[in-house]
Amino acid sequence: ARQGFIDRNPESLKLHGRASQFLPGGNTRTVLYYDPFPLTFVSGEGCRLEDADGHRYVDFLGEFTAGIFGHSDPVIRQAVVGAMGNGINLGGHGPLEARLADLVCSRFPSIERVRFANSGTEANLLAIALAKAFTRRDKILVFDGAYHGSLLTFGGGAGSPVNVPHHFVIAPFNGFEETQKLIRQQGDDLAAVLVEPMQGSAGCIPGDPEFLSMLRSETSATGSLLIFDEVMTSRLAAGGRQQQLDIRPDLTTLGKYIGGGMSFGAFGGRSDIMDLFDPARPGALPHAGTFNNNVLTMAAGVAALSEVYTPEAAQALNARGDALREALNRLFRETGLPFVATGLGSLIGLHPTPDTPNSPADLEACDPAIRELVFLDLLEDGVYLARRGLIALSLPIGDAEVDMFLDVMRARSTRWRDALG
Ligand code: PMP
Repeated sequence: ARQGFIDRNPESLKLHGRASQFLPGGNTRTVLYYDPFPLTFVSGEGCRLEDADGHRYVDFLGEFTAGIFGHSDPVIRQAVVGAMGNGINLGGHGPLEARLADLVCSRFPSIERVRFANSGTEANLLAIALAKAFTRRDKILVFDGAYHGSLLTFGGGAGSPVNVPHHFVIAPFNGFEETQKLIRQQGDDLAAVLVEPMQGSAGCIPGDPEFLSMLRSETSATGSLLIFDEVMTSRLAAGGRQQQLDIRPDLTTLGKYIGGGMSFGAFGGRSDIMDLFDPARPGALPHAGTFNNNVLTMAAGVAALSEVYTPEAAQALNARGDALREALNRLFRETGLPFVATGLGSLIGLHPTPDTPNSPADLEACDPAIRELVFLDLLEDGVYLARRGLIALSLPIGDAEVDMFLDVMRARSTRWRDALG
């Protein structure tokens, strides 16, 4: 499969070689790197991608969930072009910022006030800083395997060497008793618990509803804040995963699709906490950022939430995801392929293990060679998803694309089963 990939993609290979002269690894996003070299895409339309060698793919990755609208949504394109026409980089307040804030606050009842940033990473960094300032406490409890952004990565138990230095306490995801004990032990040293209601990067592993409810009650009892990182999961319903769980976090972080596919992050929540950022108040916390209210993102976000990813669209997209996950798991049972499709709604994790994982540790035994084979075979068949098995459906994906994907999976199942031995 590897040699076939190299032979089919001479132009991507050449471009990768050139890029590597100037960019370590040929790229700016570590997550996009894979061996032997990553493909270079030259264009996208709807749910289709084209690479530098002219191959076409159905895009099942959806830009790691930010690309919910596909590559050329006409409403968003018009909003961005319209904003360009009015001038960008105005260096002041603009009307679109408050409109987007209104749309966000209306969708997420726990978000009484919101502030914008340029990435989910920034949103989480600001939420942590805010929680520490509000509670005047120091420690942040996070979960093993969590991904809260480039500078907040907790795969494999330890933090990454580039993490922002905070006093992190690491708990086992979905580990009810241990986590409860840790929160009680930390007592009034704990500023916040930061959690993905479904761990996304770790493999689309949902948090047990009782586990997440326990986080709510324990943080309330000890006076620490509960922060839901809904950068990924906010797409699961109009009001995010918190709506489905009926849990009201103190703070929520957002990103990805809410900026209409432009660079975006946001954090918001209880007004008594968020108002620490009100610059009219003495001793207000500073929060600056040249592009926080950039008109292209604001315009795209307003169009996206008000016209494209409506509550009805959210429901339909997530129903399509649920149906695909069920169809995949049925296919695995029928073909005897020991794989499992995890996740919720339009977010699916595809894993070479027969058992549904309950924590990232459960996926450690997955054979990386099988993951590579699946990834390269699917590319050859015109299906693009993340090498680690992430699927994030976008709105332009229809029945034809879903059927095509299932046909490809079925046709490949014998080969993968044999490879597993
Ligand atoms: N939190 C979660 C749960 C994420 O999945 C991501 C991105 N994959 C981030 C934060 C970081 O967002 P960004 O890439 O915009 O910095």
